[in-house]
Amino acid sequence: MKKQFAIIGLGRFGGSICRALNEQGLEVLAIDTSEEKVNEFASVATHAVIADATEEMTLKSLGIRNFDHVVVAIGDNIQSSILTTLMLVEQGVNHITVKAQNDYHEKVLNKIGAHKVVHPERDMGVRIAHNVVSKNVLDYLELSNEYSIVELEAGKLVDKRSLTDLDLRLKYGCNVMAIKREDDVNVSPAPDDILLEGDIIIVVGADSDINRMEEALF
Ligand code: ADP
Repeated sequence: MKKQFAIIGLGRFGGSICRALNEQGLEVLAIDTSEEKVNEFASVATHAVIADATEEMTLKSLGIRNFDHVVVAIGDNIQSSILTTLMLVEQGVNHITVKAQNDYHEKVLNKIGAHKVVHPERDMGVRIAHNVVSKNVLDYLELSNEYSIVELEAGKLVDKRSLTDLDLRLKYGCNVMAIKREDDVNVSPAPDDILLEGDIIIVVGADSDINRMEEALF
């Protein structure tokens, strides 16, 4: 059976999740208190309903506990976001993802049993900061406090050099996961594969090691 998703709150965040799920051909129930928002998403979501998610009976009558994953994307109204999350937990929803507005909000959401709390503005800010600090860091994904995956643009210092020659694993403890060259993506680079200026390489490693490598070679 197809997985079913529900998105509560159709602002920029919830709305873009709704669109992305729809583009993947998945079933989405879109919920918002605003009639205007619901009308906007009527053709994007499988079902779009005007409802206040803080009302327990409303959630029950929508059969919310039968959904595989519910995303709470209520924006500024922290109280509504917390109350909605609490009711989803009480009704036994399997996967609940909630957008937090700030650290206190995040703490409360974790405490009451949200399965995943996301902080899009903060996380995107961190990603952009890496990109601003070094023009060669195109993207950045934090794996833990210490480890990350980064996308780096190859410059002159690595041009026409093989992975063996660069010896990134031994010198910097970093692993090259993939090499992008225009539309081609090599997802299992071999030791004798040659890098060219302008290639995008995707590297996993400890932050300190990635920084050392980036300073020396990128
Ligand atoms: P964003 O930062 O993602 O753009 P917004 O604050 O613009 O967030 O959007 C949040 C959406 O959540 C709004 O469309 C609002 O109508 C909706 N919303 C707020 N409270 C509730 C609620 N109790 N039930 C359902 N939807 C809600």
